[in-house]
Amino acid sequence: MPKSPAERKAAQRARQSASGTRKIELQLDQQELVMLEQNCAARRPGREPYELSEYLTMLIRRDNAELQDLLKMVGNCGKCGDKAPVISCPCAGDSACWVTNGWQGLKLVI
Ligand SMILES: [Zn+2]
Repeated sequence: MPKSPAERKAAQRARQSASGTRKIELQLDQQELVMLEQNCAARRPGREPYELSEYLTMLIRRDNAELQDLLKMVGNCGKCGDKAPVISCPCAGDSACWVTNGWQGLKLVI
């Protein structure tokens, strides 16, 4: 069942108080700010737009879920056989080594 903006905000506050939170400063350029504001509204057409910070925290959670799925799908290093993600490998530089190329599948691509 969809939550009202007040309910979503209350849930967010409950999460924040239940676990330690940290306030960060974020500098956005004009284009990023416009995109953020437009998307907050566009994802809730005809409804109260997402709040900027709410939207950003949801993106973080969504990215985390996507990354966890990606990490489940990465295989092993083609040289040492270690389960990826491999932080270091004596074969780094070899094209079959996960450290050389495999990690690039985890990069954020825009
Ligand atoms: Zn390796």
